[in-house]
Amino acid sequence: MKSLHELPACVVSRKIKEQEITAEEYISTIIERIRQVDHKINSFISNNFESALSKSRTIDKKIKEGLNTGLLAGIPVGIKDNISVQGLKNTCASRMLSEYIPPYNATVVSKIEAQDGIVIGKLNMDEFGMGTTSEYSAFGPVRNPWNLGYVAGGSSGGSAASVASLQIPLSLGSDTGGSIRCPSSFCSVIGIKPTYGSVSRNGLISYSNSLEQIGPIARTIYDLVTLLNVISGVDPKDNTTLPKNYEYKTDHVDHILKKKYKIGVLNDLIDDSETEVAENTRKKVKQLKDRGCEMEDTRIPLSNYALASYYVIATAEASSNLSRFDNLRYGYQGSPEGYEWNSYFSESRSKFGDEVKLRILLGSYVLSAGYFGKYYAKAQKLRSMIKREFDILFNKYDILLLPTMPVLPFRLGEKTLQPIENYNLDVYTILANLAGIPAISIPGGLSKEGFPIGVQLIANAFGEQKLIDVAVLLENIEGFETWIPKI
Ligand code: GLN
Repeated sequence: MKSLHELPACVVSRKIKEQEITAEEYISTIIERIRQVDHKINSFISNNFESALSKSRTIDKKIKEGLNTGLLAGIPVGIKDNISVQGLKNTCASRMLSEYIPPYNATVVSKIEAQDGIVIGKLNMDEFGMGTTSEYSAFGPVRNPWNLGYVAGGSSGGSAASVASLQIPLSLGSDTGGSIRCPSSFCSVIGIKPTYGSVSRNGLISYSNSLEQIGPIARTIYDLVTLLNVISGVDPKDNTTLPKNYEYKTDHVDHILKKKYKIGVLNDLIDDSETEVAENTRKKVKQLKDRGCEMEDTRIPLSNYALASYYVIATAEASSNLSRFDNLRYGYQGSPEGYEWNSYFSESRSKFGDEVKLRILLGSYVLSAGYFGKYYAKAQKLRSMIKREFDILFNKYDILLLPTMPVLPFRLGEKTLQPIENYNLDVYTILANLAGIPAISIPGGLSKEGFPIGVQLIANAFGEQKLIDVAVLLENIEGFETWIPKI
């Protein structure tokens, strides 16, 4: 029989509601599992064990008294360490915020708690979300559960690795240019970046606010959809959110097949990726075709320019967003001698890691007088053009299919000193962020050496249901929830 920590959230939550087990028992098992495993993976920056246990008792009491409980009754959720949880340190994996404790909950956290979900701890990441490997963390790198010497992907590496290593069933990440999908692909879990404006960013510490969204990571589609339903929705505290009906469902396969989805295959991007990634992606194309989906080769010509556009816009916004950490109100509070202007600010700004400093410099440069038109304005124009290309493609196709990452997971340290090589890895994920549209990474298979390969699906704005439908098909074909790393 499976141990409790191996079960999907939906199964456990039913057991808790039917009083087959108590929430306290389950949370204790999860805490034990984290204690046993996480010293190898390093996915948690801090934990919330005491309060999680006490919340689990409250839920048990409610159930005993016959009161209603929410969709996530007794389920532990890990939260990326750039999403505010009242009373818990929110470090963004930075020395700058190593002591910062937010006085309020992010809207997504309040929504999870309103459904009786339990915040179990804060998860490791690249500093301020800037990175693709989760190595740029002031708390050490996250290790890939499939091979501890390899990167877990980033920046939400802790969110993906903790779920993949069966420490927790659900987590939240944030995705500015792939940070949910990249680690999901590298760790063999499911991660979705929702449509821009469908999930509140209130309480998320901004890296690049026009690109990023919070989203869920899980091992089964059903669990993913449950958490997505909980966190989606308009929020008066984030005026970029839109009122819509966000009730997604996990439909029956037969019903999905009747929808006869037309899927555009981004063949040139598949060709550009590492051999095993390309082979695996083609296998997915065949599987879906065999199931009756209409598959057609297509391309997105401007994808060549996406990286340049992304890195100009992302760093420009980062330089502006991170200027608030100035030794006056937020972040590290130093008190240099004499309060001389420059030393006062540089005392605290020196707490940023090198990658963050590099991006602030880049961003300030592209926004500076004389260069604004040359870089920033051009990048925004390109962004609009890429959006238009997607509009044209989505007139023809329901969904686009491509790899999540062009490469397999690689060794820790292999690319840390090569920023451009690292940036190039984001080439397939940034497209959806630039266009503000939803994209999901689904486990696609394992390489010969046993490394996970993810497949990515992209839909038009608010087309999450289509992504979920095709994800259900793939889950049904492969049964990938049974692919579990041995740690
Ligand atoms: N790797 C990308 C970057 O460093 C994306 C990061 C993210 O999505 N937060 O900007």
